[in-house]
Amino acid sequence: MICVLSGGTGGAKFVDGLRQVMPAEEITLVVNTGDDLLWWGLYVSPDIDSITYVLSGMLSRERGWGVKGDTFLCLQAMGQLGEPTWFHTGDRDLAMHLLRSRLLAEGKTLSEATAVISQKLGVKARILPMSDSRVETRVDTPIGELSFEEYFVQRWYQDPVNAVRFAGASDAEPAPGVVDAITSADAVIIAPSNPITSIGPILAVPGIHNALLQAKARIAKPKIAAISPIVGNAPVAGPAGILMQAQGLPCSIAGVAHAYEDFLDLLVCDTRDARAADMLRQSGLRVHCTRTVMRTADDKAALAREVLSLISPDLLKDKTPAVPQVDSQP
Ligand code: GDP
Repeated sequence: MICVLSGGTGGAKFVDGLRQVMPAEEITLVVNTGDDLLWWGLYVSPDIDSITYVLSGMLSRERGWGVKGDTFLCLQAMGQLGEPTWFHTGDRDLAMHLLRSRLLAEGKTLSEATAVISQKLGVKARILPMSDSRVETRVDTPIGELSFEEYFVQRWYQDPVNAVRFAGASDAEPAPGVVDAITSADAVIIAPSNPITSIGPILAVPGIHNALLQAKARIAKPKIAAISPIVGNAPVAGPAGILMQAQGLPCSIAGVAHAYEDFLDLLVCDTRDARAADMLRQSGLRVHCTRTVMRTADDKAALAREVLSLISPDLLKDKTPAVPQVDSQP
């Protein structure tokens, strides 16, 4: 079994590749819930939604979020009623939020609600929220503290960022199954997600960091691999660079390596970062360079296949060895 720690967009792209090259039943996802919000009174979990949609084949690959072919009539109607419309929820997407909200109102936990929805949508992989407690990513800016979605979607991440914190994290517990999924996995993959606001909240839940240390201590190596969301000193998309700098990390593969240094065995980065990769290898980290920008379904599958061939080749559907594009020696 492979355990993947993931946010929404970059994570979903990678998971889209993974499900093509290995049996979905062998994938457990631990997903960020720091972006969760109440929207029009409904509980929305943007990263769980994206992962659920990609695994059920419903994701709009064009937008990278929401349901493919969705319409936005309700959003329009809410606008006419004077309600906020900055967070875009499609009409079919609303069904997810309605059902989740009802399940939560009936007393189910977020992991139970997620499991019910996954099962109804025929998702074969296991999707686990990082925690059933509310952990909120808060972005400190000159205009005050914003929720992640206010900062990212409503204000287009234009505000300077002083710091990021995860409200509620210290009192949270990992959701049932999370620690076991990490410690018993054949390998753990940190998806090419934002290290601060997608992977950061997961690592902030007490017990998860320790589970990664336990996983690393097991004999098979490399056990824990991360794919860099930073390519050539810039994020492929979004505010990861600004947020990394706000948290004292350089926007580079070295910054990504530093964010995960306690438990990382292998960093997968882009061929464009070959020189920086050489420097990281001198510090003893194993680094593999390949093409990591995923534009097409083939790109996604190729990256997933290559990562898997390095850490858990037995799980590949097609066991013909992938041809490494660049030398992967430390
Ligand atoms: P969010 O919750 O929507 O922010 O989702 P993620 O954190 O999973 O995804 C955002 C991150 O994905 C950004 O930091 C991007 O740089 C990264 N990303 C997006 N597409 C790609 C890609 O094709 N390749 C790589 N390596 N990173 C990507």
